[in-house]
Amino acid sequence: MSLTKFIFPAMAALAITSCASKATTEGNDGDFDYTVDRFADVEVLRYKVPDFDKLTPQQRILVYYLTEAALTGRDMIWDQNGKYNLAIRDLIENVYQAYDGDRESADFKGLETYLKQIEFANGIHHHYSMDKFQPTFSREFLAENVAKLPADQQPGNIETIYEVIFNPSVMPKRVNQAEGQDLIATSANNLYDGVSQAEVENFYNALKDTTDATPVSWGLNTRLVKEDDKVIEQTYKAGGLYSESITKIVDLLGKAAGYAENDTQRDVINKLIKYYTTGDLKEFDNYSIAWVEDTKSRVDFINGFIESYGDPLGMTGAFESIVNFKNEDASHRTEVISGNAEWFEQNSPVDPRFRKDKVKGVSAKVITAAILAGDAYPATPIGINLPNANWIRAAHGSKSVTIENITQAYDEASHGNGFNEEFVIDKETSDLLDKYLFITDNLHTDLHECLGHASGRLLPGVDPDALKAHGSTLEETRADLFALYYLADPKLLELGLLDNPEAYKAEYYKFILNGLMTQLMRIEPGKDVEEAHMRNRQLISAWVYEKGKADNVIEMVKRDGKTYIKINDYEKLRGLFGELLAEIQRIKSEGDYEAGRDLVEKYAVKVDPDLHKEVLDRYAKLNIAPYKGFVNPVYTPVTDKNGNITDVTISYEEDYLPQVLRYSKQYRTLPSLTK
Ligand code: ZN
Repeated sequence: MSLTKFIFPAMAALAITSCASKATTEGNDGDFDYTVDRFADVEVLRYKVPDFDKLTPQQRILVYYLTEAALTGRDMIWDQNGKYNLAIRDLIENVYQAYDGDRESADFKGLETYLKQIEFANGIHHHYSMDKFQPTFSREFLAENVAKLPADQQPGNIETIYEVIFNPSVMPKRVNQAEGQDLIATSANNLYDGVSQAEVENFYNALKDTTDATPVSWGLNTRLVKEDDKVIEQTYKAGGLYSESITKIVDLLGKAAGYAENDTQRDVINKLIKYYTTGDLKEFDNYSIAWVEDTKSRVDFINGFIESYGDPLGMTGAFESIVNFKNEDASHRTEVISGNAEWFEQNSPVDPRFRKDKVKGVSAKVITAAILAGDAYPATPIGINLPNANWIRAAHGSKSVTIENITQAYDEASHGNGFNEEFVIDKETSDLLDKYLFITDNLHTDLHECLGHASGRLLPGVDPDALKAHGSTLEETRADLFALYYLADPKLLELGLLDNPEAYKAEYYKFILNGLMTQLMRIEPGKDVEEAHMRNRQLISAWVYEKGKADNVIEMVKRDGKTYIKINDYEKLRGLFGELLAEIQRIKSEGDYEAGRDLVEKYAVKVDPDLHKEVLDRYAKLNIAPYKGFVNPVYTPVTDKNGNITDVTISYEEDYLPQVLRYSKQYRTLPSLTK
């Protein structure tokens, strides 16, 4: 479902030099500096907010209050990601800012990198691999400098905190997905405390009513804990868990409502306020329905506990917020796609029993992000497809967006980084990528979001969670296959979305190259593929590679000791994508857990150590950061002499560390040092 957090960042590494077919990239980028910071495996970029100046002052003020509400949720995601995260953030930030020794020393440099890493991950675990960061400064160095801090900056539980920071065996992984282990007990997130996986499953199975046609998303806004030997839910709401943050968000949303563009939008904001105030998941559904049905407003936003990738059982939502407004020109593309949703559904290679009879209201647009916050900051999705509740999607449709100012920033920042020269097999393919990758990649995202996630149906009585821990991977697989299959369809030419029948080959080549090889750059030697989107891409690529072997569809060619992907038959490759799509949809529709698990385990998880090493070596020479994220622009209210806000201005000057340090101070809501 979902905020497709990581469809794109892997391919951001590909250099793209031409995007002639894109309306939004016109104009001169001049001297806008996209690169902000580079450390560890991360590059921080900035993004532009084109046309902010073309909004009305009222819309700009609305955006402003919504961005404030977004940033105010910062502490919640930190606390959700781990119960010591806020205490560690305070400690490291305080030491960093108070330090008066040699700022060039290895220990201090190590501390600085660690600070940048935890700020990037909203906690002490890598945002993508979920592994705990290993500090390169010593425990003694930290202790020595902690001792110099004022007493009120020294946490009482300092020894515990040192263990959490420095002992690799303490809380090693934020989200553990290893089959056969207690996924709750072995995951370091703070969504559960003192409960086992069996207890969590029993708790929710008892709540779930399988005959309810409109079930709430159980567990979405709760922390499950044991008290007096009883499993209970702590609810995120005003007056509940995270009350300090939520109360402030509610206040800011109330101010935003005063600048709503229309009654529908005001109603959406008020419904969100009601949900935050009550913590009632029925109210969240009411809000989601109002939100998905508001397709007319220019300004839009999400703010809440939305995506559940941070929960090994996929239930609790991580706080996130993205404020945005519609990119009118580029939205034409997605409107054409969703306008033809019915045709795509009825012509898919999927067994008609598993297709939707009627595809309902897949609204789609291209947006400009104005702020990224919570789990969407600094690393961000490039597409959003919400709401997640299946029954709301079926009855009221879903909203699907592509965040084009973000994809554009990725694209601009990747120019000339040497990636194509190193990994793409020949000049001809490279030229194809230069010419068509940007547009086909955008189309891939549109198709994935607008149609892929919205397609297909479950057979009556099938539990939507039947695929359990493999549900996210298989859902992403389904959406990607839908997109890949249709990228090569003549329908796209007929609809005027592509102007060359060969264009799709650019995306096919990139997808296979990434899925079989280059995404391995994001995995440490000896580790498996774990993240759902990466598993999905490897599953697809490894499956079509194997099934196409008899016909030599895809070759892995060796030249001077280097491996290259060579695609010999693009048409057959499309056929294989269609075949696998039909099978994945069957698995989903029938809830065939065993078949889903077997596919994931056979194709998606294991890595060829030799190829892995080769990719890492070749990639290292390019010095490209495998992960990218963004600093936000800064919005400044303009006030009249009575202090009323009359307008809002935007600036792009703020750098990475100054921004996160400012956020920590300015948007502090939750209690600081734990005892
Ligand atoms: Zn997706």
